[in-house]
Amino acid sequence: MPLLVNLRHLEAHNVRLEGELPVEELDLDTPDETIRAKAPLQYDFEVQKLEDSLLAQGRLQLTLDCQCVRCLKSFKQTIKLDPWSSHLPLQGEETVTVVNDCVDLTPYVREDILLEFPQHPLCDAECRGLPNSISGKATKPLKSDQPETGSTAWSELNKLKF
Ligand SMILES: [Zn+2]
Repeated sequence: MPLLVNLRHLEAHNVRLEGELPVEELDLDTPDETIRAKAPLQYDFEVQKLEDSLLAQGRLQLTLDCQCVRCLKSFKQTIKLDPWSSHLPLQGEETVTVVNDCVDLTPYVREDILLEFPQHPLCDAECRGLPNSISGKATKPLKSDQPETGSTAWSELNKLKF
């Protein structure tokens, strides 16, 4: 059930839309594996017709399944757009698509929800990550004066110096 408002109905009165939208309908493109949307979007808003535009005002809520980028723990994060509002022009270049007197609000909802997606999901702002995440990375130690153990290229070079 897409988020449709009928313009004829809007001529007479404001239209209230309330319910849940399956996340498949929202067609969220989440290429990042740290964020997944499975739960339906919850919406509750009112649409009113202005002179040459529509105004939607209310709230949106979506719970995401996230994976912490530091410690890899799974956790849920809820995006709340409260208050949410969207201005939909009925004239001009950015005009909405009207099909059988109906306007689909889904693209506008999708756009605003995606803007709220966390860039780097963290289970906690203070998350310290995995215990060995610092030494676990395949980076060279910054301190070059530390004696190397084992037969690495660097220790071979050191032997040549002496
Ligand atoms: Zn974490």
